Amino acid sequence: MNKKRVYVNRSLDLKKIKYIGLDMDHTLVRYDSEAFEEATFEAMKTLLVERYDYPKEILKIEFDFQKAIRGLIVDREMGFILKLNRHGTIRESYRGTKPMTYKEVKQVYGSSYIDISEKRFLAVDTHFSISFACLFMNLVDYFQSQGNSGFVTPAELCDHLWVVLDDTHRESIVKKMVLEDPARFLIKETGMIEAIKKFKKHGKRFFVLTNSDYKYTETLLNYSFPNQEWKELFDWTIVSAKKPRFFYDDLDFLKINENGSLENWQKPLEKGIYQGGCAKKFVSYLDLDESSILYVGDHIYGDILRLKKDCGWTTALVIEELGQEVEMNEKAQVYASEIKSLMNEKIVVEKKLDELICKKIEGGVEYDDQTRQDMIEEFKALDRKIIPLITKQRNLFNSSWGEVMRVGLEESYFAHQVERFADIYMPKLLDLLCLSPRTYLRSPKKPLSHEIDS
Ligand SMILES: [Mg+2]
Repeated sequence: MNKKRVYVNRSLDLKKIKYIGLDMDHTLVRYDSEAFEEATFEAMKTLLVERYDYPKEILKIEFDFQKAIRGLIVDREMGFILKLNRHGTIRESYRGTKPMTYKEVKQVYGSSYIDISEKRFLAVDTHFSISFACLFMNLVDYFQSQGNSGFVTPAELCDHLWVVLDDTHRESIVKKMVLEDPARFLIKETGMIEAIKKFKKHGKRFFVLTNSDYKYTETLLNYSFPNQEWKELFDWTIVSAKKPRFFYDDLDFLKINENGSLENWQKPLEKGIYQGGCAKKFVSYLDLDESSILYVGDHIYGDILRLKKDCGWTTALVIEELGQEVEMNEKAQVYASEIKSLMNEKIVVEKKLDELICKKIEGGVEYDDQTRQDMIEEFKALDRKIIPLITKQRNLFNSSWGEVMRVGLEESYFAHQVERFADIYMPKLLDLLCLSPRTYLRSPKKPLSHEIDS
C-alpha cells in the first residue's frame, strides 16, 4: 500500500473542490533541481564578471548543491547566512562557508532573535535559493581571503547577486538552455495524464496559472504532454500571470489566439490560452465560488502567501525536498531513540546533582566534593555520546544545515510559513492526484505543550 504523502494543515474535502489550478514550473512540470540550480549559479557568476567587473577568478568557484537549503535568511549588513526557528530565533549561522559559534552570534545580535521584516534581512525561499545562497557564501569567503573587503560590502554583494539572478530570469538565460535541451533539466512524470483524467471524470476542471511566458509554457507543456494533450486537459492556461500580483491586482486578460494574435478579453473565459489577468476577474467572469478552487504551487511568496491573504482559494504547496526528508526521518529514528534514552539518563544524573546542591542550600547538608565531581563527569560523558549522534542524525539530511522543516527539535521558520499559508502540502503534485478525488483530508490534532506527558 502506498504511504500517505499529502500532509494536512487545515482539513480539506476534495469532493467540494471543483477547480484545480496548477502552477507550471516545479509543480506541473518537475525539474532536475540540481542541474537547474547549477546552470543558474554559472550564469550568475558570468554576469557578475561581465557586468560588475568581479575578478575572473570567481569563475573557478564550484557549485555544491549540498552547501545550502531552501528557507535561509541572508543578513545583508553582516554578510551572514542564518537559519531561524518559527519564532525568528537564530539556530544556525554561517559567515561565508564557516559555521559561527553561539558566542559569535550573541556578540553580533545580542539576543539571538531577529525581526525578519527589517530591510537588512532577505529570505531566500525560492527554487533559486540554493544557487543564490551557495554563491553568496563562497563570495564572502573569496573576498575575505583576498583581504579585499573594500571591493564590495556584503549588502552590495547581496544586491549584485539579486540583480544578476533577476537578469538570468528576465533575459531567460537559463530558460533558453532548458528550451534547447529539456531532457537535461526536466523530469518526465509518468501517470500525470491518467491522474488528471481520473479527477476530470469526477467533474473537476483544471487550469494552469504560470508566470512563464507563452513560448516557454507551450514548449514545456508540449514536452510533458505528448500530442499537445494539455490543450484538452486544461480548460484555461494563463501565462505571464505576474503572481503574486495576479491575486490582488485588477489587471485585464488577453486571449492568445491560435495564430498568436492577442485579443482583449473582458467576459467569461472560454477554453484556451490567456495572458495576464487577475484572480478577481477570473472568478467573477466565470462566476466561481472561491472556496471551490484549489491552487497548487511551489513558491510560498509567489504562489500561496498573497493568495491566502487576498483570496478565498484553498492552497497546496509542493515541497520537493520533503520526499527525501520524510525518507530520512525514518532512517533517523535509530539515532533519535538512542538520543532519547541517553537524554533520559542525563535527566536522572541532573536530578541527583540538583538534590545534592538543594540539600546543602536549604538544609546545610554538606556533600562530598568527589561525589559532585563524579556526577558532573557522568553528565559530560553522556553529552560526549549524544553530540556525535546528533551530528550523524543531522548529516542524513544536510551536513551544513540539517532539515529544511526543522531546526533541532523545533520547527524551522520555513515550516512555520508552510503551516500558516499552505492548507495542504506534499513532495510532488502527483502525490495529490494519486488520491481518490473523493478523499477527505483531515488535519491531525497537534498537541499543545500542556497536553504532552513530560
Ligand atoms: Mg513554480
